[in-house]
Amino acid sequence: MTTTTKYIFVTGGVTSSLGKGIIAASLAKLLQAQGYRTTIQKLDPYINVDPGTLNPYEHGECYVTDDGAETDLDLGHYERFLNVPTSQSNNVTTGRIYQSVIEKERRGEFLGKTVQVIPHITDEIKHRVQILGNSGDYDIVITEIGGTVGDIESLPYIEAVRQLKWDLGESNAIVIHLTLVPYLSAAGELKTKPTQHSVKTLMESGVMADILVCRTEHELPRELRDKLAKFCNVRPEAVIQSIDASTIYDVPNLMLEEGLDTVVLKKLELTRTKPDLTQWNQFLSRHKNPKGEVTIGLIGKYVELQDSYKSILESFIHAGAENEVKVNIESIHSEHLTEKNAAKKLLHLHGVLVAPGFGERGIEGKIEAVRFVREHNIPFLGICLGMQMAVIEYSRNVLGLKNANSTEMDENTPDPVINLMESQKSITDKGGTMRLGAWDCRLVEGSLAKDIYKTVDIKERHRHRYEFNNTYKQQIEDAGMKATGFNPETGLVEIIEIPAHNWFVGVQYHPEYKSTVANPHPVFVSFVKAALEYKMNSKSVSMAQK
Ligand code: GLN
Repeated sequence: MTTTTKYIFVTGGVTSSLGKGIIAASLAKLLQAQGYRTTIQKLDPYINVDPGTLNPYEHGECYVTDDGAETDLDLGHYERFLNVPTSQSNNVTTGRIYQSVIEKERRGEFLGKTVQVIPHITDEIKHRVQILGNSGDYDIVITEIGGTVGDIESLPYIEAVRQLKWDLGESNAIVIHLTLVPYLSAAGELKTKPTQHSVKTLMESGVMADILVCRTEHELPRELRDKLAKFCNVRPEAVIQSIDASTIYDVPNLMLEEGLDTVVLKKLELTRTKPDLTQWNQFLSRHKNPKGEVTIGLIGKYVELQDSYKSILESFIHAGAENEVKVNIESIHSEHLTEKNAAKKLLHLHGVLVAPGFGERGIEGKIEAVRFVREHNIPFLGICLGMQMAVIEYSRNVLGLKNANSTEMDENTPDPVINLMESQKSITDKGGTMRLGAWDCRLVEGSLAKDIYKTVDIKERHRHRYEFNNTYKQQIEDAGMKATGFNPETGLVEIIEIPAHNWFVGVQYHPEYKSTVANPHPVFVSFVKAALEYKMNSKSVSMAQK
């Protein structure tokens, strides 16, 4: 095994959305499956200090790590593929780089020197890249550079890569360039020009690509690979095709077939062994050969955009494979859900998930969805805001507190069953003011939660400001909704359930952030199982009625 850490940079050209994150995660998987301790880092070229304040419509879900970093959703892929937790160091934005350089300048650390993009910003980037490598925890660090080569924003990153390649030496740092080989149907041809131009743009910044990964809709013929190799200064075996896959979980095997790990390891002068993908392939085979299916409604306000609920959707894939069923997701916009149309939209479902979210829009629809599934005994999972909506619904319709609400939605509600923690009240800054990251939770003996986790002490990731108001706990419990998970230090309620219901669970945390291929999350696994049982039972009831 190696003593020096090796670095792999992944850049992208031609266009965004080529799937750099999935390629990086797939390569990491192949290296990990040969025993190399591998991690992935994402450098994002925008000025936000972290993605916490970004609108999910624009940027997809905000992924949260154990140490409470609000990060790019690609980190979710890294964890799901590798089953190794990431942290703040795995996601760095331009905003964060500038923030730390400016803070150093204010502290006088630059001793009167003019502070400039080169060397100060580039040095900070190089430092951030090497933090993971210098930790001694990894043999290989893969650094994905967000954005597209040639963008103004990416320039300092590309310059840092150029310098690092030079500093570290050829066999210690390599560049993989991801590009697009478009197919022109009118001409019936695959085109290499965009790739040639993109490699040229990279070279204008002094960076030679060592490996090309070409995203394509059609197989790349040998001649085309040879042509790309000749014009782009890479070896023919270093032209790798990344063909559209039916699932992202196929990509590690596709990269294996293409020999991506072989070229990478050769360039890095590391030995190659056959990657052990046994567990991964067992998951794939269960995922692709389901024995049944269930349909689950996902109620949220960002349902138009798949990426907004990325981790939830992936958790269902893991949990579906574990239960050997296909999970069909029906996205339902909470703003369009009313008492009148609830039956039409929800009655056929085998389970309903009310999604996390912020702000008032669509919440009455969410509350209506909870009422409907509670009254019809349809399995229910509420995550974060979804759990809060379940508490509000119960307070309004079972306890009779007609105007119960969260103070996030109605500051003057007479019954603030969900409210702000005292310590949060004075904070007005939107970034970093939430209960974030992993918090301890102790489960109540005899609860469904305990049955799901099969242990008493768990740790789950949070991202919220508002909490279950413990003043109402007794009243709510007396009416039949139980609090079954608490933070042991603060007594904050983390889980609620209704024992008299088929399967009704609300969690204040986000289980979806911790579901991986190797470890499907138990809450999702149990929820899908409950949906399947519900489907079987409702079938047998309707058969009996015939
Ligand atoms: N808006 C709610 C809060 O801040 C829930 C947040 C969420 O669902 N992530 O508490």
